[in-house]
Amino acid sequence: MTSGVDVCSLLRMKPLSFDLSRQLAFLLFPLVLLLAGCATCPRPGTPEARCGDEIVAAGQFFHTGTRVVLWMDPGGYDAYRVQRRFVPLNESGWEISHATNKDLSNPNRYGMRLAGLTTNEIEQVRGGGWDLPLLQKVVDQFVYHFDVAGTSRRCFQTLQDSRGLSVHFMLDVDGTIYQTLDLKEAAWHATIANGRSVGIEIANPGAYPVGEKNPLAEWYKKDSKGVTTLTIPDAFGAEGVRTPGFVGHPARPDPIYGNIQGEDRVQYDFTPQQYEALIKLTAAVCKIFPRVKCQYPADADGKVIPHKLPDAELRKYHGILGHYHVQTDKDDPGPAFQWDYVIGNAKKLLGEASCRPVLSPRQVDLRLRR
Ligand SMILES: [Zn+2]
Repeated sequence: MTSGVDVCSLLRMKPLSFDLSRQLAFLLFPLVLLLAGCATCPRPGTPEARCGDEIVAAGQFFHTGTRVVLWMDPGGYDAYRVQRRFVPLNESGWEISHATNKDLSNPNRYGMRLAGLTTNEIEQVRGGGWDLPLLQKVVDQFVYHFDVAGTSRRCFQTLQDSRGLSVHFMLDVDGTIYQTLDLKEAAWHATIANGRSVGIEIANPGAYPVGEKNPLAEWYKKDSKGVTTLTIPDAFGAEGVRTPGFVGHPARPDPIYGNIQGEDRVQYDFTPQQYEALIKLTAAVCKIFPRVKCQYPADADGKVIPHKLPDAELRKYHGILGHYHVQTDKDDPGPAFQWDYVIGNAKKLLGEASCRPVLSPRQVDLRLRR
């Protein structure tokens, strides 16, 4: 409001009234509208502008400061649909999909968040009627994955068409974030954490046991100048990447080795565009859900724990996690993932850390070489 008068309440007022003050208000109504502007009560049919960086939680839009494509946007990925997305249209319906692929056991690829809700609250939300305070009470974890698919398009194909699974966000190699479901839904991405968590699949070909055959040479090529380029193999299809002509480079040019779940693994790093987007999204998720603390599971020295958390610790943990913190059979987001860089800079955006940017290992390397 700019004039101090509630224009919306005037709109609801009965126009024919013998009450003098109401008649006066009715007569003054066009003038009030003029003074107030139409900002608070748009005319019917006026489009509501969006910035293109919004995510959706309990039906509300929240800004992230980075590009987001929603399931309802052109080019988006819609996990609410029961059809398969990447088969011929006449083979995409639920009945034929189920008959063709027994892994698709349920038309829905997502469920309800039920943990901790009362019977009355479950009745309230079973039709989708979440309010934000109730959702904030339930969501307390944010799980990072790598997708092994290499691109978000291929990731959605695997989840939706092949495995009957889902995830709230996918982060492509060019830094585009796709949201496939409202955060009020329990996406099927991390077993026992589904009911309480938000999940993201970050496009990356994955981590592999050291010394065993792996496909990384097909994805990454280093030139004579020491620049490593991400090349999406033809079989995986680069056409789904939203930035035209995007050429990706891992944030560090050489493979990264590290131990996850007690096994040495090798992986190439994510792209700088992915890190920048993930930092902003993480800050947004932590801001929207105060129970998701902007932290990772750390040992006594403050280093990220490289294996599944014991069940009791996992139950009481509120914050950011890798999938490998939830399940022993998982190794994502892998040894290359830069926890300090992501969480440190997300905390900076949240005003929980000093304004000094947290450098990535690559940035530290380059500084030392100067
Ligand atoms: Zn995972």
